[in-house]
Amino acid sequence: MTDQSKMEKKNIVIPGRPKKRLFIGMLLLTDGLAAAMLYGIWYIASPGLSNIAEVLPTIVGGIFAVSVVLSLLGILNMVLAVADLPYLPLLQRRTYELINVLFPVAVRLAKPFGIGRRKLEGSFIATSNLMFNRMGIRVPASRLLVVTPHCLQLATCPHKITRDPGNCKRCGGCDIGALVTLSEEMGFHFFVATGGTLARQIIYKMRPQAVLAIACERDLMSGIQDVYPLPAVGVLNIRPNGPCYNTHVDMDEVKAQLEKIILPEGEV
Ligand code: SF4
Repeated sequence: MTDQSKMEKKNIVIPGRPKKRLFIGMLLLTDGLAAAMLYGIWYIASPGLSNIAEVLPTIVGGIFAVSVVLSLLGILNMVLAVADLPYLPLLQRRTYELINVLFPVAVRLAKPFGIGRRKLEGSFIATSNLMFNRMGIRVPASRLLVVTPHCLQLATCPHKITRDPGNCKRCGGCDIGALVTLSEEMGFHFFVATGGTLARQIIYKMRPQAVLAIACERDLMSGIQDVYPLPAVGVLNIRPNGPCYNTHVDMDEVKAQLEKIILPEGEV
């Protein structure tokens, strides 16, 4: 029986996959508006600037134009990656910086279209995962850290797993047991964090070569960007009981991601 059918048996609905083009479309719209705004600022400020020095409007206009072109290239890079076409991994840093700057504006712009922040964050994670996989990042299991929030543990479980996940008795009451078993079988490090800050501390302390994080949209979105350039892939948790309480994860998706990231033993 697959993990998906086990979840169906427990009446846990696995949400549909977020659409990557949603995030890219909103970024494009935001970038277009930012370009129009920069042009407006430049147009209004140009006479004043040329009074100071004749060359100033050209310099300021040039800086604005380069910023817009670089951000468009970053978005184009995402489009190429999503379309399975060759893209420039060198521009990935630019892409992440761009996301940091434009994301809050994109959230505001998306609201009138009935697109919520969570949906947009889910779309970012799907795009980021795809770029991760397209870059062909693979690491030995011993250099991979899988980190998950504490809310994945059954709330009534008496066993303390945040210091040592090995304390889990694998009773099947939550997905922690399956993750502990998987970490032993595959050899990756597994850690249960009580919050995003602790998760980041563990990452900085352990210095893995890659991270697979299981969390909600908000934590994944900020976490992936915070640990960059460390490659991180995100798997969304499932919240049938509301946020931060007895959450689940699609173990089939976790396994599929692990198989893509972990180098086979013969290639280590
Ligand atoms: S699987 Fe482990 S963590 Fe989950 S309820 Fe059972 S003993 Fe507790």
